[in-house]
Amino acid sequence: MKSKDSDLEIAYKCLKYSIIYSLVPVCYIFGLAFFGNFVERNSPQITNQTQLEEIVKFERKRMQIPQSYKIVSVLTNNEACVSSSKRITNNSYEILLVKPRARESTVQHELRHIKEGDCDRTIDKSLTSGIRYLFWEEPRNIYYQFKDRNVRYSDGK
Ligand SMILES: [Zn+2]
Repeated sequence: MKSKDSDLEIAYKCLKYSIIYSLVPVCYIFGLAFFGNFVERNSPQITNQTQLEEIVKFERKRMQIPQSYKIVSVLTNNEACVSSSKRITNNSYEILLVKPRARESTVQHELRHIKEGDCDRTIDKSLTSGIRYLFWEEPRNIYYQFKDRNVRYSDGK
């Protein structure tokens, strides 16, 4: 007959599994960030506003984003910012890219958020919103970045 675990053994098992289970989301988040970064690293860099606007024009056409959408693109030197996309008003959006890390692939990523309607939903700090972002929107966009890694505006010039 198997003896019952002592309290100490139970406590040890609890500790062991809570460490293992908390590592899963941590690994996932780092893995996602690492892979996204890996895809972007090989993409051509964007150095000025004119170049950014041309790439946005090229990519939005390729991605079939409705022409009725007005997309303002901003290239900043402010390293405190992160690349992002947001809706300003109805049918009007803004994408922000941060200069040393701004790449063609980053434009694809941010435009994908607009195309898929991520910017149209209410952004809040709820768990559901966070889960949706982390487990659906981000991996989907990184997948498309990877899939489109050889699509380069600069090659067509
Ligand atoms: Zn994103």
